[in-house]
Amino acid sequence: MTMRRWAIWLFVALGAGIVAPTTAVARQSSHDATQPPTGQLPAGALDAHPVVALTFDDLPAAGSLPPGENRTEILTTLASELKANHLEGTYGFVNAVKLVDNPDAQLALSVWVNAGMNVGSHTWSHMSLSDNPAEAFENEIALNEPALAKYADPRDWHWFRYPFLREGDTLDKRRAVRAYLKQHGYRVAQVSLDFEDYAWNNAYGRCVAKQDEAAIAWLKQSYLETAEEYIRLGREEQRIAFGHEIPNVMLLHATAFTTLMLPDLIDQLHGEGFRFAALPEVEQDPAYALDPDAALKYGGTLPDQFMDSRHLKYPPFKPKPFDKLKTLCQ
Ligand SMILES: [Zn+2]
Repeated sequence: MTMRRWAIWLFVALGAGIVAPTTAVARQSSHDATQPPTGQLPAGALDAHPVVALTFDDLPAAGSLPPGENRTEILTTLASELKANHLEGTYGFVNAVKLVDNPDAQLALSVWVNAGMNVGSHTWSHMSLSDNPAEAFENEIALNEPALAKYADPRDWHWFRYPFLREGDTLDKRRAVRAYLKQHGYRVAQVSLDFEDYAWNNAYGRCVAKQDEAAIAWLKQSYLETAEEYIRLGREEQRIAFGHEIPNVMLLHATAFTTLMLPDLIDQLHGEGFRFAALPEVEQDPAYALDPDAALKYGGTLPDQFMDSRHLKYPPFKPKPFDKLKTLCQ
């Protein structure tokens, strides 16, 4: 689950009324691999052939369970949807604490890897680096390893997704954990697209319990509309932060609701011209080797981190319907 967007969203929503419409500028044709050009405004049209790797956080148990569902059913369905779209090898980032004394969660993760999907680390207990010292965070990375090695065997599991996308609220912490990850053979699974898909799941569970079909229809519609809006925003941020779009990594969560919506989301991505690629392939792009090297309490996607640390102006965007999601079907 991620919370950092709240602060960014509030800040930008408040400012949205005074943000001028964006002006088209010539797209930069090349960039220095060590330092992104910053400050360009987005060009008018987005790339016709964008690329995305889907990734799923908080395995084996993301979000609350709707009535009558279990973790094994959810990950079985999610893996079969991915296979139906030839997306074997998709990464799921694991908090191994969720496996303890939970046979359903253990079976769910076995199903995931046996279906050809991969696992990476998301720390033992989803620790926030902004609220804990680097040493405690590193201990959580180490504590997560036996389970990853067991489930991934013999495949590689040395990809790391920071919980809440928080990479350090001080430069010392940021640099210490990055050095630790590198020393222990991890690559950071950076994110370029995030619409906080997890935020629909609890409302969905409540609406299922109430059998409120109209509310569930709204949840589905607003989920896809929000995905569309924040995919556009993420791509425009890349134009501002890097001077061009980059191959994408989308953050999703292995919740019941995202599992329900994934076929529609994949259809929508196809409709926007996306083709799918594997995480290791996408992260070979030089942009993913860039390090904003900034202390950021709320972290964010890689483009967010450049936008915030370089004080770049976000394009206008619609806020997410968090207020309605919190109260729907209560
Ligand atoms: Zn998470």
